Amino acid sequence: MYLKRLEMLGFKSFASRTVLEFSSGITAVVGPNGSGKSNVADAMRWVLGEQNMRQLRGKKSDDIIFVGGQGKAALGMAEVSLTIDNSTGWVPSEYSEITVTRRSYRSGENEYLINKQKVRLKDVLLLLAQARIGHDSYTVIGQGMIDAALSLRAEERRSLFENAAGIRPFQVQRADADNRLRQTEQNLERVRDIVSEIE
Ligand code: ATP
Repeated sequence: MYLKRLEMLGFKSFASRTVLEFSSGITAVVGPNGSGKSNVADAMRWVLGEQNMRQLRGKKSDDIIFVGGQGKAALGMAEVSLTIDNSTGWVPSEYSEITVTRRSYRSGENEYLINKQKVRLKDVLLLLAQARIGHDSYTVIGQGMIDAALSLRAEERRSLFENAAGIRPFQVQRADADNRLRQTEQNLERVRDIVSEIE
């Protein structure tokens, strides 16, 4: 399993559709200051579901949408797609390539897609947890993150090891099951009220 392709459109400085192909092994991105190298890392973090704008070096959710410049008008939408090579079956999926897409509009609305099918954020998070490449894992290591890892609090350190051990997908599924259980209990409570009113 490796990250195969990153496609950006309207994301930060990438106004036009920009495709980066990665082969297995090491890829280095080089360029002058301000040319967008960190924006590439931000795009990866963002498509992996990052919600914290500070982690993306922004303040508001639309800071990641192209604001205009170099003769081009501002855009209303940003889209990033990340393709994972799954030919070894690392991710439990029938597909040998999995593409996760995130779109965001100036209205604040976000859309998530897996292989072009619209899904919920939690579906993306579950898939990425199974692939062990979530935005909150150490897939994308930003400047200062190594120092931060060394000074983690005990429970944060535990979360880091749980992530590396592959426990996260089960935690995501358990949280989902807990949620549904709570909703079912509320529904049951309502049904009991109605039954007692009828009696
Ligand atoms: P350095 O080597 O100095 O760290 P870098 O190559 O990593 O630079 P980035 O930080 O990725 O560069 O890119 C910075 C550029 O991205 C700036 O020119 C900034 O104006 C531009 N930029 C950031 N957000 C947007 C946006 N929403 N719309 C247009 N351009 C943007």
